[in-house]
Amino acid sequence: MDEILNLPIYEVAGCEFDCSCGRHHVFPVEGISVGKNAIKDLVKFAAPYKEQKILVVFDNNTYKVAGRKAVELLKENGFEHIKELLFETGNDILIPDETTLGRILIELDQDCGLVIAVGSGVINDSCKYVTAKTGKPFIIVATAPSMDGYVSAGAPIFSQGFKLSPQAHLPIAVIGDTDILSTAPDDMIAAGFGDIVGKITAIADWDVAVKVKNEYRCDTCVTLVNRALDKVFRNAEGLQKRDGEALSALMEALILTGTAMALADVSRPASGAEHMIAHCWEMDEIKRGLNPIHHGTQVGIATPVVARIFEHLHDDLPEGTAELCPPHEEIEELLRRGGTITDPKEIGISRELFHYSLLNSHDIRPRYSVLRYAKDLGRLEEIADKITEEYYGKE
Ligand SMILES: [Zn+2]
Ligand SMILES: [Zn+2]
Repeated sequence: MDEILNLPIYEVAGCEFDCSCGRHHVFPVEGISVGKNAIKDLVKFAAPYKEQKILVVFDNNTYKVAGRKAVELLKENGFEHIKELLFETGNDILIPDETTLGRILIELDQDCGLVIAVGSGVINDSCKYVTAKTGKPFIIVATAPSMDGYVSAGAPIFSQGFKLSPQAHLPIAVIGDTDILSTAPDDMIAAGFGDIVGKITAIADWDVAVKVKNEYRCDTCVTLVNRALDKVFRNAEGLQKRDGEALSALMEALILTGTAMALADVSRPASGAEHMIAHCWEMDEIKRGLNPIHHGTQVGIATPVVARIFEHLHDDLPEGTAELCPPHEEIEELLRRGGTITDPKEIGISRELFHYSLLNSHDIRPRYSVLRYAKDLGRLEEIADKITEEYYGKE
């Protein structure tokens, strides 16, 4: 029972076990490799498709840091049917919209057996979406530890200017080579760290839903996430120094929180009120035609905001919940240690938007959160006013 807690990350792949939560969990990702020279495992993970056509997708940047190496490795090892798709993005940001998804679909031949996505957020999400629609397996070679979507069935995409989050599917394998990850820009590493810090309030938020709404919870998944977080937080300073162990720990945590989501079959272990608030900010940036700020950066900033909500609600919380959320000062200190931003003003969140997001994020998703809890108690407005003042001063 709960064997997953005793497994090293590469053995988590493909595991199946009876859990103390009463469910039988299955984790369908077949291969995980994180660490120095992990990219060599691409040959092993892609081996079942060796005789078929393989489409490798990258952009200018990810080609340089990992795409070229991936293609070389496959060719050296006798893979003969490789087709390359390069997105010439220049300095533009690739967006997972009709153009990007359509391009992949056009290049994806019917007899293609496997897609290898070389990149981070956008290339991963785009390949995930198209392969889910076409029923083909895909492998992700990560180029930045920037978000937790590598092992997540959801694929955020854009259609006619709107952001959608349709269900897609999981990759068959994920590769996080620390030599490649260490070439990622500072802000992307900081964003991955921010996304991980967000799990603190996600877990506390889940607890509220379990206690108030009797929602399902898997303690094994919670333990899995918490252990991964501890490992990252112990060496948060190492991230901006590109320390291999710190990067490995971050990548593992991003994968393991995805694993916990897949096992529990809900996004609860990875996303709570902090994600809802960050989503509200992101929607506003899209509406204003701005380039969205990294998801994890916004989630990181929203985390101590949610911690403050827990603090204001302290005496009204269900028994044992308050203890799950550390003081906001502690979370802010943690964010700084990992090199990420703590102040919403620094990413252009206006006082009005901030206040609006506290009042309205509770119904962004049909799920129970500490925001809804505060609203049901009739305290959301008063708390939103106070926290806005804590960040932006008196009006
Ligand atoms: Zn996230
Ligand atoms: Zn379980």
